Amino acid sequence: MQYFLAVIGGGPAGYTAAEKALKAGKQVVIFEQESLGGTCLNVGCIPTKTLLYSAKQYYNALHADKYGVTAEGVQFDYAKMAQRKQKVVRKLVAGIKQRLKSDLCTVVNAAAKVVSRTDEQVIIEANGEQYEAKNLLICTGSTNFVPPIPGVKDNPAVWDSTDALAATVLPQSMIIVGGGVIGMEFATLYHELGVPVTVVEAMPQILPNLDPDIVKMLRDKYEKSGIRILTDTKVMALDGGKVTAQTADGGELTLEAEHVLISVGRRSNLAGLEAMTDLAVNRGITVDENMRTNLKNVYAAGDVTGKIMLAHVASRQAEVAVANMLGETNQTIDYNAIPSVVYTNPEIASVGRMEKDLAEGTYEVRSLPMAFSGRFVAENEGETGLCKMLIDNGKHVLGVHMLGNPCSEFVAAASFAVRMGYTVEQMEQVVFPHPTVSEILKEIL
Ligand code: NAD
Repeated sequence: MQYFLAVIGGGPAGYTAAEKALKAGKQVVIFEQESLGGTCLNVGCIPTKTLLYSAKQYYNALHADKYGVTAEGVQFDYAKMAQRKQKVVRKLVAGIKQRLKSDLCTVVNAAAKVVSRTDEQVIIEANGEQYEAKNLLICTGSTNFVPPIPGVKDNPAVWDSTDALAATVLPQSMIIVGGGVIGMEFATLYHELGVPVTVVEAMPQILPNLDPDIVKMLRDKYEKSGIRILTDTKVMALDGGKVTAQTADGGELTLEAEHVLISVGRRSNLAGLEAMTDLAVNRGITVDENMRTNLKNVYAAGDVTGKIMLAHVASRQAEVAVANMLGETNQTIDYNAIPSVVYTNPEIASVGRMEKDLAEGTYEVRSLPMAFSGRFVAENEGETGLCKMLIDNGKHVLGVHMLGNPCSEFVAAASFAVRMGYTVEQMEQVVFPHPTVSEILKEIL
């Protein structure tokens, strides 16, 4: 039998693609060597957010007095938190299995290897069997990057994010190498549970890809509450939990902790694709706006493309890829309107252009403290927050950058504005529910 679509990888890109092709009545085979749901569901977004929620419950209980609530003897059980995290993961993975249950779908729980390819078909081998498909979608994702820093490899004190999520006991102390998204989310988790945390970031700013004003506010809060943050500091060597780092002025620094979390980025996973020697790869698999690679009938979506490593980008890319296989050639992904969230406490959420991308004189910045929202004040005692909107000379919304809970829940409204090219006047006509923190998007206009 020839399948319409073979998907390698069962993460957000893979299962979304399979579902879309199944809905169109096509035969699909999907290969997953570990567990359906991929990194996001099993060892990424979902388990991290589940643990962060537990930590936030504990932290809020500890600080409940500011809301007039006295909680005595507040404790947590990390093993129970870890158990609940696994329960959430199992439930969601079961949900994905259910969504792929169809006479048209074959799920192969094994590593897939491309054996050969012509413009008419791709042959894939898994578990000693061969599968033929008309189209191939590569969604093999990414893996944690292991930097070539002496002492990182085979060091039992070193964790990556997968090790940190697998642990059922909290570390006594933690050094986090890389103050990017993963680093700052784990810094939040450990800090809220009382673990001494030091973050070491090579760039002048933690979360270097986010708005500097927003990040500065978060950093100030985190430093005040006891997280040690070293920027402009590059880790040079490790020896057990001992870290040697170099500061911007050439000075040397020694730090020590029970564990060292390495979170310095992820790399595309290209294993199993070796037979396609002419597949164009540059950081990740090169794709056009329709998610086509340079090979006819081969598409790629998700982290493996090395574009923006976010689950929601992966699933949209997958929809675009399948749409194009089905002949719906008008489907593309707009990289200018991708929302992104960092689950620190408070959260950061942003979408669209940043000031550093825009030429002076071509835009205006509007900034408003989150305290302009009544709901924010009611629910965020002693907290600060900020909403920044970038507007072009024609009054179109170019970008929105926010700090303050729960901005992750309404950044989608800002995404609509950016994606649809709304002007301030059009935004003004939208009614926001009161009292919600989302009203900040209206107040700022
Ligand atoms: P990242 O690229 O966000 O951050 C890595 C950081 O490590 C950078 O700031 C870099 O300057 C720093 N660094 C590199 N080498 C260093 C060294 N020797 N010493 C000190 N610092 C060093 O990567 P990440 O945090 O590992 O995340 C990987 C991917 O996963 C990202 O694409 C991220 O967007 C994604 N992710 C997203 C979410 C979310 O959406 N909430 C959560 C987790 C991960």
